[in-house]
Amino acid sequence: MSKIIDDLRGRMAKVGKLMWDEGLTGKKSIYLAGGNISARIPDTDSILIKPTGGSFGSLKAEDFIVIDMNGRVLKGDFKPSSETPMHTAVYRSRHDVGGIVHFHSLYCGVFGIAGIELIPLTYGGGPGVQFMRGVPIVPWVRAGTNELGEVVATALQDRSILLLEFHGAISVGPTIEQAYHVASKAEELAEFQWHVMCIGKPNMIPESARLAMVEAARKKGEFV
Ligand SMILES: [Zn+2]
Repeated sequence: MSKIIDDLRGRMAKVGKLMWDEGLTGKKSIYLAGGNISARIPDTDSILIKPTGGSFGSLKAEDFIVIDMNGRVLKGDFKPSSETPMHTAVYRSRHDVGGIVHFHSLYCGVFGIAGIELIPLTYGGGPGVQFMRGVPIVPWVRAGTNELGEVVATALQDRSILLLEFHGAISVGPTIEQAYHVASKAEELAEFQWHVMCIGKPNMIPESARLAMVEAARKKGEFV
């Protein structure tokens, strides 16, 4: 088991570095976190989660903390993320989720503040099937609370990505890499939508076609 956990720690540190390099953690501050990530340790009721406060720019594999499904620390030198209740609520309610990325990126943040949902603009080379129903906004609840955890976990029951009003976004996947991939695509889509809205009214693929894509993916067992 320790090899599995060590591998997972390394994968999480890599995802953290990619998020930092891409700007998914917002301004590159060495003092601010700009989000948090976690992953379920396979076949256990334990989670690896980022420490609170620390920047993604200096995150190391050994920094991640092992917690249980109620946020109690099982192993680690630091305090777990202040958003631990949001992560644990999602894992408790969705057993298929293996990784969670909460991020404070520019364009997702802008749409979350403006109260404008992400709309499904493209398919194929652009965003994936996770975006074919758009991305709704969860109404604001104070960060770090159990209440936010419950609201987010409920809204994520049949989705992989949400914007949080005034507070970035959250994505989930069967692995930490897939959760990151959806987060990265969400920011790309949000930037794309921003440009489209600057020049006119966005056109969308017809709803029936989009929902058929979602249904087909579900039938194949894909995580949508
Ligand atoms: Zn946050």
